[in-house]
Amino acid sequence: MTARPRIGVLALQGDVREHLAALTAAGADATSVRRPSELDEIDGIVLPGGESTTMSKLLETFELFDPLQQRLAAGLPAYGSCAGMILLASTILDTRPDARHLDALDITVRRNAFGRQVESFETDLDVVGITDEPGAQRMRAVFIRAPWVESVTPDVEVLAQVPDGPAAGRIVAVRQGRVLATSFHPEVTGDRRVHEYFVTMVRG
Ligand code: GLN
Repeated sequence: MTARPRIGVLALQGDVREHLAALTAAGADATSVRRPSELDEIDGIVLPGGESTTMSKLLETFELFDPLQQRLAAGLPAYGSCAGMILLASTILDTRPDARHLDALDITVRRNAFGRQVESFETDLDVVGITDEPGAQRMRAVFIRAPWVESVTPDVEVLAQVPDGPAAGRIVAVRQGRVLATSFHPEVTGDRRVHEYFVTMVRG
């Protein structure tokens, strides 16, 4: 693997630019992905936040759904944030019956799980493999109509849970092999540690 892996950001909808900037800052050669042929040129992919049911439709419209699912099944490293987490999951609760998902991560997620009172909020998280480094600070996490992970299979490592408040204990970051997902949006805070973690995963 090259020192600067080429990482795509699915650029159909959502906060693409922020991820491109964060990946570049984290040491990747970042590029937008809109066409099936562009999938062949990347070492990893980020599925950004946005609206998961809309993104699932656009994946089909752009004829990306099946090729992306195949590349994920073949081991393409992926990081999904928020709507991206929903798209990667194997089971979605509270979604639309016609929405498709990529089935690359053995988790059950609940869309818009935090409910009306705390639809959007911020908190500081401990994240396994990131904030447990000596001297590291907790991570500021921004949740925007976010999903939570309702359950995981034994193959999935839980990386972060909400520390306190009404949603205390809810799982909000996970990893299974080469697939990483967070309910929150690290691309909006200037904290590059999640993107650096993913770049390291892709290099590995
Ligand atoms: N609520 C959105 C969905 O269900 C996700 C929100 C986000 O990505 N910020 O897809």
